[in-house]
Amino acid sequence: MSIRKEVILCKYGEVILKGGNRADFEAKMLKQLRQRARRIGNYKIYYSQSTVYIEPLDEESIERIEDMTWQAKHVFGFVGVSRAFACEKNIDTIISVVKEYMPEKLKGYKTFKVESKRSDKRFPMTSPEISGEVGGAILSCVRGIKVDVRNPEIIVHVEIRENEAFIHAGQEKGAGGIPYGTSGHGLLLLSGGIDSPVAGFMMAKRGVTLECVHFESFPYTSERAKEKVLELAKILCDYTMRVRVHVISLTEIQELLRDNCDEDYFTLLLRRYMMALSLRLAHELHCEAIITGESLGQVASQTMKAIHVVNEMADIPIYRPLIGMDKGEIIEVSRKIGTFDTSILPYEDCCTVFTPRHPKTRPELSEVIEQQNRLNFDELVDKAYSTKQIIVVKQFGENKTEE
Ligand code: ATP
Ligand code: MG
Repeated sequence: MSIRKEVILCKYGEVILKGGNRADFEAKMLKQLRQRARRIGNYKIYYSQSTVYIEPLDEESIERIEDMTWQAKHVFGFVGVSRAFACEKNIDTIISVVKEYMPEKLKGYKTFKVESKRSDKRFPMTSPEISGEVGGAILSCVRGIKVDVRNPEIIVHVEIRENEAFIHAGQEKGAGGIPYGTSGHGLLLLSGGIDSPVAGFMMAKRGVTLECVHFESFPYTSERAKEKVLELAKILCDYTMRVRVHVISLTEIQELLRDNCDEDYFTLLLRRYMMALSLRLAHELHCEAIITGESLGQVASQTMKAIHVVNEMADIPIYRPLIGMDKGEIIEVSRKIGTFDTSILPYEDCCTVFTPRHPKTRPELSEVIEQQNRLNFDELVDKAYSTKQIIVVKQFGENKTEE
């Protein structure tokens, strides 16, 4: 049999629409695939006709093709990833590949159709002729399956390309979006909750490289609460490969707020400190935007007025990709990206330390500023900023503390 191997085909999404920038986008996607492939095995990765091919070059890499497929599904910019059998471009070989591999692939499906594409027009059969032959072969070797051209449960693709033919069925979804690193740099406010990791994912999917900042309030928040946040960052690395988490302590600020300001304003004041610290960090890291997991009306600090009281401090854009989403919709994404189970672990967040019983939902900026002026805001920001620790989190390898 002249089957060479199983290969992974990755299909472009929106990248196809990029005019002048397309080469740059493609280069980033290929680089990211290669970076991941190096960790898995020995693969040849190349591009042709809006598809990227990943070919295993040795036995071990063939064995790890499932892991490599998983990696490909986490690179932004690809909408579909499938494992295909590559073979010689003649119909007899194609039919024997179909007969050998399709019974396994099509097990459990009731209906199918074949779609053929012939980019090599010298191939002696037309696309409908190829589909007819291959469909017939499938009917003869897969028990109980029927053709349904309108609404098939699975599509078998036959592609006659320049050098080889590819046969595949059951394309899986890719990560979508546009390549990581094509939309600038953003600072994600990462808590241990459900929302902020989803917000980070959504911006990363639109090409924004992430830095993270996490505010802790030790000993009111525990070491395990911080570990949970680092674990969430690690899950984001399925997509981003690497991310830095800057951890800043708010303990002193929170104690002073408790002792000096009206309880109703605690959360808003704390959020203004968080914003001041985040802005300072964003400027230091050359981030062009701040990203939060806020969703309008979800809690008292996320009403229009409460958001304004914090938003007005910012001199760079604040992106809130979840602003119009319901909790259920956010949870759906969080399950899909794998952060949900970690997010719901029950550790406290600094926002839940000293929470007011009656938080202001319609605060006036002037009143908030008046409360803020009871303490030396700038000095406290300076002091808190000096507690900053940096932890580098990677998909492959241990976390490292950076000086
Ligand atoms: P999440 O589920 O992301 O924690 P939430 O619904 O609990 O969000 P809040 O606690 O009001 O809402 O926080 C709103 C946003 O503020 C979060 O999505 C996050 O971006 C940021 N944030 C809150 N707490 C922290 C923290 N301890 N460190 C960093 N950012 C935080
Ligand atoms: Mg929270």
